Amino acid sequence: MLQGKIALVTGGSRGIGKDIVLKYANNGATVISGDLIDPDYTHENVSFVKLNVTDRDNIKEAASKIKEQYGKLDILVNNAGITRDAILLKMKEEDWDLVVDINLKGVYNVTQGFISLLLKSGNASIINMASVVGLDGNAGQTNYSATKGGVIAMAKTWAKEFGRRNVRSNAIAPGFIKTDMTHVLPEQVIESVLANTPLRSMGESEDVSNAALFLASDMSKFITGQVIRVDGGLNL
Ligand code: NAP
Repeated sequence: MLQGKIALVTGGSRGIGKDIVLKYANNGATVISGDLIDPDYTHENVSFVKLNVTDRDNIKEAASKIKEQYGKLDILVNNAGITRDAILLKMKEEDWDLVVDINLKGVYNVTQGFISLLLKSGNASIINMASVVGLDGNAGQTNYSATKGGVIAMAKTWAKEFGRRNVRSNAIAPGFIKTDMTHVLPEQVIESVLANTPLRSMGESEDVSNAALFLASDMSKFITGQVIRVDGGLNL
């Protein structure tokens, strides 16, 4: 499905990012996983680049390496993200700043750093990893939900800016997916999520990587500026 495509996935060492990297690689893409730490896996189609989404010099270096090696980029998945949850009354400014720096400014940094390579593709796809809380809000996540709403707005903006150059840009809004990020949630939060989820389960990374495969491939060639919810029907 992705033969001949060059893909970069940020935060590709763990969780949803790792699943997307391996799904793309198993579907024929050449994939670069950009992360802070080395991945605990190998695949013949996957290479690793140290990439901190908050470090614009680091991004510049990574972009020039990829330019030298491949001359273009077809798929960019802005997946790296963190949480620092607290209700507004207790949210520390440093936790606001950190989440905004990685989840929101990081997406701007990386996309700006790679846009000229994406424009060289002639058929490119940008995928921003948002969240249902970027659409619906969530108590205890002022910082995180603001960033996820922001990456949806950026995906739509880039759909308008780059559509005529055949760069598509979409967002995925996962609900609650089983990864390290949600592993730390208290039992009663999980129970209330499941009670509000018609499919009565949490999602798997694979559910998200399937949507990411669709948005990266030509199966979605007339889809841009959209948000796909992968959430089991949460909050319907
Ligand atoms: P995860 O398991 O915590 O993995 C996040 C990845 O991002 C890690 O590999 C992490 O690297 C990397 N990362 C963090 N800061 C980075 C930085 N400055 N530069 C580069 N990479 C960085 O999280 P996940 O659950 O897979 O989430 C992936 C994405 O999906 C995130 O954007 C998240 O907001 C979104 N999402 C997740 C859920 C869910 O239920 N899990 C729901 C909605 C949306 P380290 O290992 O070095 O920390």
